[in-house]
Amino acid sequence: MPSTPNQPDTANTVTSAITTAVPAAITAVRDEISRFEQKHGRPAGSVELLAVSKTKPAALVRAAAAEGQLAFGENYADEGAEKSLALKELNLLWHYIGHIQSNKTKLIAGHYDWVQGVDRLKTARRLNEHRGADHDKEPLNICIQLKLDDEASKSGCSTADLNELADFIADAEHLTLRGLMAIPAPRPGFSEQREVFKELHHWFERLKHSYKTVDTLSMGMSGDMEAAIAEGATMVRIGTAVFGAREKR
Ligand SMILES: *Cc1c(COP(=O)(O)O)cnc(C)c1O
Repeated sequence: MPSTPNQPDTANTVTSAITTAVPAAITAVRDEISRFEQKHGRPAGSVELLAVSKTKPAALVRAAAAEGQLAFGENYADEGAEKSLALKELNLLWHYIGHIQSNKTKLIAGHYDWVQGVDRLKTARRLNEHRGADHDKEPLNICIQLKLDDEASKSGCSTADLNELADFIADAEHLTLRGLMAIPAPRPGFSEQREVFKELHHWFERLKHSYKTVDTLSMGMSGDMEAAIAEGATMVRIGTAVFGAREKR
């Protein structure tokens, strides 16, 4: 139904109040990325913004897309898949980020362009099989989630298992190995944040040396973006600073 501009649309009042904030927030985050690139000697445009839209309605994603933002991150598989279908005509790139439940691999392989957070062979194998069953689809872009030796986190591939997993993904017909992603535990100070990101960058350089498709180091969120850029991130995943505080699910 065409909208009638002179009538109040109460159901959408809240959403439209938020959508008007998105363009300014996107611009502010982009400016900040440029400033940090410059400050830390990174080439201009070398850090990509992934807008993390989990829990946010499709209307907000549309508002960000209108500002030229094309890559979006989701970590509830079904919610992201629904948004990707609702906004199909915009040709956005959807990244699944975070932990992958094995019963969601089919849905993820069918609806996303990237998966950031593969940390075991079983998941990689399933994603490859499901992606292969969809004949008109390009290979799925994969970032391995790496866990450093002193991280207590349950998810993430250990540095000891990295080569085996990377080899499998690089050889898989329906997957393309793009790089590493990491979610280090929050650290209070800038130098502590940099220390971890520096180590992740070391592993990224090693991986890049071995596999020619590797070009992505996904690290840094709203709270530690500068440290990640300083240490070589090529992609930062930003939710709160773009879309505001998350909704409860
Ligand atoms: C939610 C989320 C983000 C974004 O976090 P903000 O602090 O809101 O920027 C980034 N990465 C992952 C894996 C997430 O789940």
